[in-house]
Amino acid sequence: MERVVMADDMKLHILSSGVMECDQTWLLLKGGTTIMDRSHKNSPPSWADCPTHAVLIEHPEGRVLWDTGVPRDWATRWEPTGFQEFFPVKEDPSGSGYLDSALAELELKPDDIDILILSHLHFDHAANAKMFDNGKTRIIASSDEIEGVKGIAGAFQGAHLVSDFDGLNLESVSGDAEILPGVSVIATPGHTWGTMSLQVDLPNDGTKIFTSDAVYLGARGAAGGRCRHCVGQPEVARVRREAARHC
Ligand SMILES: [Zn+2]
Repeated sequence: MERVVMADDMKLHILSSGVMECDQTWLLLKGGTTIMDRSHKNSPPSWADCPTHAVLIEHPEGRVLWDTGVPRDWATRWEPTGFQEFFPVKEDPSGSGYLDSALAELELKPDDIDILILSHLHFDHAANAKMFDNGKTRIIASSDEIEGVKGIAGAFQGAHLVSDFDGLNLESVSGDAEILPGVSVIATPGHTWGTMSLQVDLPNDGTKIFTSDAVYLGARGAAGGRCRHCVGQPEVARVRREAARHC
């Protein structure tokens, strides 16, 4: 499933890259709330879909992909973390619900992607990054994120699973940066060391901003909740300012 936004010289596709399920309170953490696993789906009844998406930009200067969703082998890959119990993926592991299938629907293979931008290196964004380790695709992440993960001592820390990105030749960007004309990253840290948002300026359809997981910080704020593993919310205000300015 995909949605397409056309522009004169750019085409933007929003690709489904796997749907997890989880206790929704995880996304909207409030003090005193505990997370449920899949054997307690109905207690409390807040078990909900947690979709992931990728964005493909067909640009005159190359194809850009934003994020990679969840992996087909989630059930085993996530075992060291226990995430497979808390964020099980709904898609059939051999079915069409993953990024490689979404690209194949567009008759694309990973090495048809010129630039992969990772919003951050969490297990549900960077999981398929190694699919693009082909010597051709540039793989970009925030310098703060790249520095941050260097401090992880074991196989994982929080939602960073080292095997997703170790050994990859990651190209770093700092702060706000234009990747290609009309395609920029915006530094929106807080969710992780170097979470970035994506800004795409479409000539006819206006500016689109993809906030990655920074959006959940805003949801927490709106609910009056406090994010336990984030440092603050100026980054959300910044995304909102950008969105208000451009949309
Ligand atoms: Zn995340």
